[in-house]
Amino acid sequence: MSFLSLRDVSKFYGSTCAVSAMNLSVEQGEFVSLLGPSGCGKTTTLQMVAGFEPVSSGTITLAGRDITQAKANTRGLGIVFQSYALFPHMTVADNVSFGLEMRRLPRAERQERVRKALSLVHLDAHAQRYPRELSGGQRQRVALARALVIEPPVLLLDEPLSNLDAKLREEMQFELRQIQRKVGTTTVMVTHDQSEAMSVSDRVVVMQAGVVTQVDEPQRVYEHPRTRFISTFVGKANLLDARVGEVGARVGVALGGLRFDVAVDNPADFSSGATALFSVRPEKLQLRPCGQGRMDGEVQERFFLGSQWLYRLSTDAGDWTVLCPNDGRESLAVGEAAAIDWPDHCARLLPGEAPAAQE
Ligand code: ATP
Repeated sequence: MSFLSLRDVSKFYGSTCAVSAMNLSVEQGEFVSLLGPSGCGKTTTLQMVAGFEPVSSGTITLAGRDITQAKANTRGLGIVFQSYALFPHMTVADNVSFGLEMRRLPRAERQERVRKALSLVHLDAHAQRYPRELSGGQRQRVALARALVIEPPVLLLDEPLSNLDAKLREEMQFELRQIQRKVGTTTVMVTHDQSEAMSVSDRVVVMQAGVVTQVDEPQRVYEHPRTRFISTFVGKANLLDARVGEVGARVGVALGGLRFDVAVDNPADFSSGATALFSVRPEKLQLRPCGQGRMDGEVQERFFLGSQWLYRLSTDAGDWTVLCPNDGRESLAVGEAAAIDWPDHCARLLPGEAPAAQE
């Protein structure tokens, strides 16, 4: 049995379904992110695990114990919110010590645990400062130390880095993952930032309108998105309408005047003659001289991104976005003709209708 498990968990606010029959298994020591657009039910899910919101139906178990009806303060979980929620009138050390005092731990043990927690987040030297004397990133680390010091079975993080500027946020993502690896605490993080979810998580849970649409390792979500929504929410994708030909281990595709076949994860999702979406990531496309690729086109726009060139090309099958590394060679000009090519294994086919999520 998994360490933390949600079985058919739903949440209704009146007639609004915030979370619909959610199933999720989190293993001990795993870092899992709930990823999805605003309003998809991420925070509600976290709040139900934390015990701040009752479930409408379903079961939540932790280490084999049914905690569905347990009060929040008896679940013993570590929680970090976007707002940090530090006590302004307390020093950093007192903020971190607070949860230990509530648990009536002896003074000597409290001091030792606070010292260790502050060392973990590299704030040993700031123990006697007040929150107002810290930067945003430092405050966030105090909140993390305060959650970890109680040695919770599960750490719940709700958009913990969203108040930080882009550069600090990236640094903290790296640090968060390092700390989590070191202490090994099972972690569930809510984020709407796909690159954050991908960079820190062992697995990503993609949610849309209260429903889990994919649960996979980050690279798998990126390389094998299960739906149209996921393929554009997680990274960029070229999506072109195609028609399904013969369905076997590989599926035949008609795209513009081109016919070829594509390996698919689940042939049963496709039926001959139906429409489907052909998908390939912009960085997986290559530009070649005309006549030497799969399809000829013309450059409509180009953008210099520093390490890459981004091109928009029009072809008979539709418009394509192509990302090419800036390798120092001369770039293509607007109006120039070029052929588009891609390696077989980079092509994906998505069913017209979204298939059901699988864990
Ligand atoms: P965000 O990224 O914007 O925080 P989210 O994915 O965390 O969004 P939730 O906050 O879980 O989404 O909200 C899911 C749905 O439930 C939304 O439609 C929201 O309006 C609704 N909802 C959330 N809390 C309440 C509440 N207390 N009362 C009524 N509806 C609510």
